[in-house]
Amino acid sequence: MSAHTLEELVTGVASRLTATTALTWVDSAEEVLHDLVDYFELDACFLRRNDHDVRATILVAEWPHRTNVPDPDPLAVVYFEDADPEFARAEHLKEVGIVRPGGDATGYQDRVTAGSGVPAVTLAAIPLLSGDVTTGTLGFVRFGDRDWSSAEINVLKAIAALLTQVQERVRAESLLLYWAHNDALTGLANRRSLLEHLVRRMASGERGPVALMFLDLDRLKTLNDFLGHTAGDRFIVEIGSRLADSRASGDLVARLGGDEFVVVLGGEADVGTACREAERISEVVNEPVILGNVSFSRSVSVGIAVGTPGDCTAVDLLWQADQAVIAAKAQGGNAIAAFTESMRAEVEVRSIVELSLRSSIDEDRLHLLYQPEVDLRTGRILAVEALARWVHPALGLLLPQSFIPVAESTNLASELGAWVLRRACSDYARWRAATPGLDITLRVNVSPAQLVGLEFLEVVSRILDEHAVRGDRLCLEITENAVVGDLDRTRVALQGLADLGVRVAIDDFGTGYSSLAQLKQLRFDVLKIDREFVRDLGNSPGDLAIVKSIVGLARSFDLDLVAEGVENDTAAEVLLGLGCNRAQGFLLSPPVTVERCGELLRAGWIPVDPALRTPRRLNV
Ligand code: C2E
Ligand code: MG
Ligand code: MG
Repeated sequence: MSAHTLEELVTGVASRLTATTALTWVDSAEEVLHDLVDYFELDACFLRRNDHDVRATILVAEWPHRTNVPDPDPLAVVYFEDADPEFARAEHLKEVGIVRPGGDATGYQDRVTAGSGVPAVTLAAIPLLSGDVTTGTLGFVRFGDRDWSSAEINVLKAIAALLTQVQERVRAESLLLYWAHNDALTGLANRRSLLEHLVRRMASGERGPVALMFLDLDRLKTLNDFLGHTAGDRFIVEIGSRLADSRASGDLVARLGGDEFVVVLGGEADVGTACREAERISEVVNEPVILGNVSFSRSVSVGIAVGTPGDCTAVDLLWQADQAVIAAKAQGGNAIAAFTESMRAEVEVRSIVELSLRSSIDEDRLHLLYQPEVDLRTGRILAVEALARWVHPALGLLLPQSFIPVAESTNLASELGAWVLRRACSDYARWRAATPGLDITLRVNVSPAQLVGLEFLEVVSRILDEHAVRGDRLCLEITENAVVGDLDRTRVALQGLADLGVRVAIDDFGTGYSSLAQLKQLRFDVLKIDREFVRDLGNSPGDLAIVKSIVGLARSFDLDLVAEGVENDTAAEVLLGLGCNRAQGFLLSPPVTVERCGELLRAGWIPVDPALRTPRRLNV
């Protein structure tokens, strides 16, 4: 643009600025400065922006570019607090300010000399005014002395007004752009910018595998519950800034919301590299955070996915890492897991199960097997445990672990539980009709979600009535972890069962984290020792020590004790030696059909090895 008059100059500047956006703003500003330098025959021209939050003036654009700029550039960011008077004035400048050589602005002249090497200058500074606020300065520099006419000054003011408008618009646009791409709490990239970044990285034609880590803090909920959400937020902000500080250049750190973060490694990386990086990051996260004057630390579960651009999409890679972190959580947290194709298969099975579970319950397509529990000294059957099975038309035989968790997560736990209990009680009633005098215990497993369900006690009581089964013939089994999950509601449910006369067993005992203090608060009758500790009882001193302490615990609480998973004579002998006489396991009988169970109950006992009846005194 070459303007001949002041008017042409202003119109030219206005037209340059009309199409400016946040992305082109600095370039457009530079072009405007270039026009002004040419028109007024200046040596330099600059545009500075005020940041009132940090109290500084920041260089936005200049023309011409200085050569040999020192690093750090003394003109880039100047804090008002320690600036010389000319710069300090820019904070609230309202009128045009002119500085000429030989005046008293020596500090200013010195800073310019340091930044540009020029000895003395004339400066015209025009404030950018938005209402009462000085949002920046437009500066015109002429080496040596220059006189500015009032007509010229008026034009400069008009141009400053134009620049103010555009600068404000651009600032608003950048803020919108920022919040569209950044997380409001931590300022980290958000889901949208993570996906944009991943889409770029996973585009075919890009080189090498891309590794992604999905981080999920363990048990943050307890912290929120305990200290309130503000403390929880401060915890998340601290973890976010640690992740940002510890990243290597090129890594992207994003927060997806809640306590979920994602790190995309900048370079090419295989699973091994990503796992090592995940270990390093876990350590960074594990460091305690001080909230108030209390120190908290949380472990983190990490899921890793690695994908090759072109072979795997951004969305799939994120999904894979999400599945991997679910697997890491399932290991009890504080774990790192990499995605495997078997996880995908599991998810596929899970969604088929999810789709057909309800109709299978409604149409009676599940069935129960029964596993007897035996007195090891006599072989007498003392109880039977109902174990659910489902023969799926497409997937074949499904064991409880592949559909009970699905039932729990889809609110079907109560319906499935009621179905199991009703079927078990009706089978029990039929066995009793066929075997007069039968007085064994019927054991039925109960899901945690079912136990704390609203109508649980009513349903149990109704089903017992329907089949004329006495409450004390029924024993419900609850896994140890479920008991500790929601202590208050569990306590209410257990008391209600006691009122019905129904007995309660803590299942898989030894695998949970319940403390004696917690268990003492609950009313239950039986401990079932988890099969993990029973299997190798003869060969593992560690397991033996655990079982011995469980036996002691059961005695001091006056509880019945049952050993699960008895697979061999050695385990049975050790148990008898310890005084644990009730046992269940493949050595005695696998789970059997309802008909076969009826036969066993008519016989009343299962043959046990005669050697067991006279157990050796064990030195335990
Ligand atoms: P559980 O209640 O501890 O049941 C015992 C499990 O151990 C059964 O597995 C049984 O087949 C298995 N088992 C028995 N003896 C032996 C042995 O000697 N060695 C080994 N290795 N295993 C043995 P199953 O039927 O697969 O059930 C697994 C779990 O699923 C059960 O553990 C129980 O927690 C749950 N479950 C089963 N049926 C139901 C149900 O109807 N409702 C609910 N909520 N959970 C159920
Ligand atoms: Mg059980
Ligand atoms: Mg068990």
